[in-house]
Amino acid sequence: MNINFSRVQKQRLRELDAPLNLQEKSFSSIQERDAAFRNTEQLLIRQSKQHLLETWNIHRRPALCALESKLTNVLIKNGFVQVATPIILAKGLLAKMSITPEQPLFKQVFWISEDKCLRPMLAPNLYYLIGKFVHLFEKPIRVFEIGPCFRKDSKGGHHLNEFTMLNLVELGSPDENRRQKLEDLAAIVMDAAEIQDYRLIPAHSDVYGKTIDIVAGLEVGSGVIGPNALDAKWGWVDPWVGIGFGLERLIMVGKGYQNIQRIGRALMYFDSVRLNI
Ligand code: ATP
Ligand code: MG
Repeated sequence: MNINFSRVQKQRLRELDAPLNLQEKSFSSIQERDAAFRNTEQLLIRQSKQHLLETWNIHRRPALCALESKLTNVLIKNGFVQVATPIILAKGLLAKMSITPEQPLFKQVFWISEDKCLRPMLAPNLYYLIGKFVHLFEKPIRVFEIGPCFRKDSKGGHHLNEFTMLNLVELGSPDENRRQKLEDLAAIVMDAAEIQDYRLIPAHSDVYGKTIDIVAGLEVGSGVIGPNALDAKWGWVDPWVGIGFGLERLIMVGKGYQNIQRIGRALMYFDSVRLNI
């Protein structure tokens, strides 16, 4: 007989982020299954408590905050300047990114009033700011922001309604080989996230057209090699490269977690550990 874990047991194993092959295991009797469930649950709870204590006593902050600091330090060391832009975004700036009601991304936007929303991406603000910086500072302009973004994304193991984006842009570099530049910038971030195994794969975005995704089992970032059709609206004339990464996805892959919910901003979890243990 092939007996699988019950729906409730599976839910619990998912919460405790049991390895997928374990969640799908089958048994020859209910007794055998229930005994395996009890043992596994106890083991995972022990590991979770150990992890919680380690975070509480030693690291003293969740992985999301730690990665944000690590990336900030490493990017500043690599010549980038950090910026902090508003989380509330005007509808006009979205339209300037060509995100209009016909676009799928438009339907994912959280509106807080008729003409204001929670930013679904950092790009419009960076486009705007860098358009100012080119008149103030010498090129190349290297800028990044790390902060919350919001999308009504289909629920699932890879999407959160609120997530943390890192967007970095280098504009006006004398370096001709922008593909190589994109690879180098991706490597800085992937190294900080402790992910060795990843690939750059050509992809398509409704906003930018051609993109290059950074894929490590799942998409962790999307890169663009400019100039781009959008640039003229923001007064950009120089070649550039930029990449947007999701920090929660980087942590998921870096630590081998199955479920993104445990990494994002949460009340049910602390540093990826379910609190009802
Ligand atoms: P996907 O196709 O996986 O939904 P996307 O291509 O729409 O992602 P981008 O606009 O390229 O996402 O955003 C850059 C990065 O931000 C993504 O590569 C991903 O790491 C992260 N990201 C985007 N949407 C979400 C989300 N809802 N939850 C968590 N991370 C996200
Ligand atoms: Mg993408």
